[in-house]
Amino acid sequence: MSERTLAIIKPDAVKNNAIGDIIASYEKSGLTPVAMRMMQFSKATAEGFYSVHKARQFFDSLCTFMSSGPVVVLVLQGDNAIKTNRELMGATDPAKAAAGTIRKAHGANIEFNAVHGSDSPETAQFEIAYFFPLMEIAG
Ligand code: ADP
Ligand code: MG
Repeated sequence: MSERTLAIIKPDAVKNNAIGDIIASYEKSGLTPVAMRMMQFSKATAEGFYSVHKARQFFDSLCTFMSSGPVVVLVLQGDNAIKTNRELMGATDPAKAAAGTIRKAHGANIEFNAVHGSDSPETAQFEIAYFFPLMEIAG
């Protein structure tokens, strides 16, 4: 079933010049970009995006990191896009991520882990709408 997911190439990966490599990984995995935007989050934008994590001890550090430099936000479309992207990303902690995953290749540690991906249809819907009005999504 074709579906959409929200991906973010995080500030660490942008700083490491990994944008092209990561987008190539999406395309090779059948995940087609249908919307894309480079921007820098304010702290408040990061806090709103990650509000499900606001009780976690790493919340403030995560939001500081996510607003520390430019990111690339994408809507990816494809068969089982949410699960396909989560598998391609690898485990949250790059040290535990499987070979061939984006986090294994580009992540430094459990916080600076190169990419974000929606984890369910409900979060994908919230996250896509957080950044893109429907008219800005191709197809
Ligand atoms: P994922 O991004 O794999 O869905 P989570 O939703 O659990 O992981 O966490 C969101 C983000 O918060 C992670 O991608 C990572 O950047 C950061 N994070 C998660 N756990 C920790 C932790 N224990 N310490 C610091 N940062 C963390
Ligand atoms: Mg998550």
